[in-house]
Amino acid sequence: MDEVYDVMISGAGAAGLAAGIYSSRAKLDTLILNEGAIGGQMILTDEIANYPGVESTKGYTLANIMKKQAKDFGCKIKSNIKIAGYKLEGNIKTIELEDGRSFQAKSVILAPGGKPRPLNIPDEEKCKGTDISYCATCDGDFFTGKEIIVVGGGNSALEEAVTLTNFASKVTIVHQFNNFQAFEHAIQEAKKNPKISFIMGSELREIKGNEILEAVMIETLTTGELSEMKTDGVFIFIGYLPNTESLKDVVKTNDRNEIVVDADKI
Ligand SMILES: Cc1cc2nc3c(=O)[nH]c(=O)nc-3n(C[C@H](O)[C@H](O)[C@H](O)COP(=O)(O)OP(=O)(O)OC[C@H]3O[C@@H](n4cnc5c(N)ncnc54)[C@H](O)[C@@H]3O)c2cc1C
Repeated sequence: MDEVYDVMISGAGAAGLAAGIYSSRAKLDTLILNEGAIGGQMILTDEIANYPGVESTKGYTLANIMKKQAKDFGCKIKSNIKIAGYKLEGNIKTIELEDGRSFQAKSVILAPGGKPRPLNIPDEEKCKGTDISYCATCDGDFFTGKEIIVVGGGNSALEEAVTLTNFASKVTIVHQFNNFQAFEHAIQEAKKNPKISFIMGSELREIKGNEILEAVMIETLTTGELSEMKTDGVFIFIGYLPNTESLKDVVKTNDRNEIVVDADKI
């Protein structure tokens, strides 16, 4: 019979790796199954400055430290796999992979995290990965000397906009509200950056261009007025969507597709 792990964790972002560190350090035989790159969304960000005990660091550097920590305690990690199904009933749980392999454990921890929320405007999908990006660390360099738009008004949008000024000649932040949903520090850093300007109370409605992005249509929400703005690229940081598609039939999810947990049972 195949090995039955004590703990199986799906997801190797900060949550999954932390769970792996704790359970393997507790001498529980632990396996992490991860669909994407190790580190999850952490590796999408250039700088992480708020992790206790770690001074400002690159996202992928912190991810590598967490991975090493987990492995050093004996945790096994299988990455870039695709999960086909979960059988979580009974004492022994099974996770099946699309390549036909399956793994068993006495307990399963679900830590699938999220993915960037798209704007859902026409042609967004077509320009994704070229002129539209959700990751400053991955794609910022392609926009060196160019004029770009950042959509969003939370911490990620403001912090990534500042990072993008290392490449772009001009960054315009377009935000739907008239105030930001970010920490004061992030707001001040963005406001004092001479390369950053702001269009508030506005939303992107359309992407214009043939193969190459040329402009976007921006709606001023109070008046409904549409105006065209030329741009070389758009970076979108408007939150995330939970990675729970493959878990819908396995655990209870709410109307935002987040896993419902029962705090009383913890
Ligand atoms: C641009 C950006 C900047 C950020 N900056 C900061 C910051 O400065 N400070 C901060 O504290 N936070 C920051 N965050 C937020 C932080 O990255 C997240 O809170 C954190 O990554 C959440 O970790 P997680 O493990 O829950 O999920 P994730 O990081 O989303 O990791 C989940 C992992 O699980 C994998 N996966 C998905 N579905 C499955 C499945 N079914 N089975 C197996 N594996 C699966 C995914 O591929 C991924 O690798 C930032 C986020 C972004 C996008």
